[in-house]
Amino acid sequence: MIHHERLRPPSHDFPADEWDVVEKGFHPEFMAQLETMLALGNGYLGMRGCPEEGGPYAENSTLINGFYETRPIVYPEEAYGFAKTGQTIFSVTDSKIIKLFVDDEPFWLPTANLLRCERRLNMKAGTLDRDILWEMPTGKQVLITSRRLVSFAHKHVAAISYEVTLLNAPAAVVISSEMVAEQPGARTDGNDPRQTRGFVGRLLHPRASYARDRRIVLCHATEKSQLTLACAVDHALETACSHGYKANHTTDFGQVAFTIEAEPGRPIHLTKFMVYHTSPTASPEELCGRADWTLDRVMHQGFGQLLASQEQYMADFWRRSDVQVRNTREDRTNRSTVEIQQAIRFNLFHILQASGRAEDTGVSAKGLTGQAYEGHYFWDTEIYLLPFLIYTSPRIAKNLLAFRYRMLAQARARARLLGHRGAMFPWRTINGEEASAYYAAGTAQYHINADIMYALRKYVQATGDQAFLHDCGAEMLVETARLWSALGFYSDAKAGRFCINGVTGPDEYNTVVNNNAYTNLMARENLRYAAETVESLRATASDAYENLVRRTALEPAEVTAWRRAAENMYVPHDEKLGIIPQDDDFLDREPWDFKNTPADRYPLLLHYHPLNIYRKRVVKQTDVVLAMFLLGDEFSPEEKKRNFEFYDPLTTGDSSLSSCVEAIVAAQIGDTEKAIRYGMAALLMDLADVGGNVKDGCHIASMGGTWMMLAYGLAGMQDHDGTLSFWPRRAPDDNATLRFPVAYHGQVLDVAVGLEKVEYTLREGEYLLIRHEREEVRLTREKPVAVRPVSTLSAET
Ligand code: BGC
Repeated sequence: MIHHERLRPPSHDFPADEWDVVEKGFHPEFMAQLETMLALGNGYLGMRGCPEEGGPYAENSTLINGFYETRPIVYPEEAYGFAKTGQTIFSVTDSKIIKLFVDDEPFWLPTANLLRCERRLNMKAGTLDRDILWEMPTGKQVLITSRRLVSFAHKHVAAISYEVTLLNAPAAVVISSEMVAEQPGARTDGNDPRQTRGFVGRLLHPRASYARDRRIVLCHATEKSQLTLACAVDHALETACSHGYKANHTTDFGQVAFTIEAEPGRPIHLTKFMVYHTSPTASPEELCGRADWTLDRVMHQGFGQLLASQEQYMADFWRRSDVQVRNTREDRTNRSTVEIQQAIRFNLFHILQASGRAEDTGVSAKGLTGQAYEGHYFWDTEIYLLPFLIYTSPRIAKNLLAFRYRMLAQARARARLLGHRGAMFPWRTINGEEASAYYAAGTAQYHINADIMYALRKYVQATGDQAFLHDCGAEMLVETARLWSALGFYSDAKAGRFCINGVTGPDEYNTVVNNNAYTNLMARENLRYAAETVESLRATASDAYENLVRRTALEPAEVTAWRRAAENMYVPHDEKLGIIPQDDDFLDREPWDFKNTPADRYPLLLHYHPLNIYRKRVVKQTDVVLAMFLLGDEFSPEEKKRNFEFYDPLTTGDSSLSSCVEAIVAAQIGDTEKAIRYGMAALLMDLADVGGNVKDGCHIASMGGTWMMLAYGLAGMQDHDGTLSFWPRRAPDDNATLRFPVAYHGQVLDVAVGLEKVEYTLREGEYLLIRHEREEVRLTREKPVAVRPVSTLSAET
């Protein structure tokens, strides 16, 4: 149940459009949301959708993934093992400022008389385009068009193509291109733990600065995290009007001001190139040198080539990843289908922007669209994002798993500190250290270990990348399995079953519980996969096995212990209700009084003391239901139905991570009404600001969940046993068709779910064995297409 529906469909000012998100007019009331929605990024560099003029804005963040400052976490009462050092992303040098003065009057959106004003997030080209016609009080009309991009092909580069044309009179024009290093502190609301912590004082300390012609380079470093940043801009001006320029800079500010005698009808075209280089090791001189040579290159190539490479990258992305919906009974201009298509593409586009060039980092909960959650990486990546990436961009998925592998030494140290064997991955982090200041809803979420291993398995199954499993995966498996086997114990009170106590599952409204069902089920999976992998290495890849033993000091008896723990894993079960209780005490808790909780008291975490929440039977986000999706082949349809129906009314939807999962399980059990309701909430989470906090950044996990909903929910995809299978489910009155590609072992399969039939096409590759319902289907290069009927099933059986 979503107990606080706040679905705000886009109004007429944000028209439905298959490829673009368009704002018509200037909407200060939606300023913060639009900054998020129109943010550009490439996974390394992100810029919120603030106007070029340097304002107005709600949060003018320029973010670099993994570029953070640390701060001590101060506890009023300390305890052993608490995370000591917080890591927080912050806004770095803002280089995109372009101020316009006509006859010395500044162009300022809120006061300008706008005859035309449109901003367009162009998801085909990967750009943010703006088109403005400004009429000055003197009657002079000024056409301002701009196109901004954060390059995918050139990770360190962003650019703006900015054109001003006086339409009906000459004027004195000044275009002041600026960069500012020190940013105002982040927007924070002391009561909302999801927002970022503000820093007091200076974060970027000057290291170098210089100007050469129209180029300015500023270099800064952080004090405690010791990261260095070089930000540099350069310009090209083309116009038939006479012009000149002046450049000046300080250590924190740079300006190149172009003065132009504008003549009517003669465009003034400025291209601004912006470059960011960061490093934990390189000297300021070296970083400035890197910025210089990157600028030399892109200046030489010009905006046209940069744009062409962006369009090429986007075309490749959509070819690999686009999910197309059509409604057969409506014409192509039908608003609702177009809106759904727009929302799907919007979500996929933002996932790309969060992850595309995230090469030595993770993907933070908000991507690079806002500072909320402090730029931290959570389990969101592995459970919600990786399925999409694994099946569309396996290389990015691998980078993200390799990033986890690189934190293994820290995870081992963390486990030691907490008195465990093996490795304990941080619940939230940027640099690999645990940064969660509230252990009950943080460190206690041991399930992150199993989540990462779950994603590893999916990746290996879908790609066949045994080399990664041997070189990195196996070691993580050994260390995570060790942790589970050390953390749990055989409990006499539970007839000698293997129990895991004192943990928090995904549902953060029930913390530090015994035998959280999700955790135990996922830990079992982790233990089994670890044992299976080690045994298979021993039998078939002796070098890799020897190597693994050397790196982990693995004893054969450990593997036996993991198998035994997995076989004896305790999973709560209630005979009477026929459900899996979320934890040992869940059913003993007093039910939450939903009837008397007004809509404006959600999310509960902002209105009730944690204790008032923890002692009640109320769920923040799917927990058992999520396990039923992830480990779908371990539960019968009846079990899924009973559990879904039990948990649904208890689930607040206070976390955006719920709706997509509920939609999938609802589809699996044949509850079409709920599947659609939750599906729409997940789909429109950001475009329609369902949770009311899009201002703080996109919900990247929910966006990934959207893809899962379409693939796993609607097309009934399953991948539990290493063979891809599909069982499309169609409601009797559903007229929509769905088409999406799936990459599998280097081959590409197109799945097109029509009204009566589903068509499987092997688009790339030689041979693929899949399952349709229970039938095996073989696709070959000679016979790449198979068509099967779609049954109007209400539930899988
Ligand atoms: C959720 C977590 C999630 C985090 C970041 C929290 O509200 O409860 O599961 O990882 O947000 O998205």
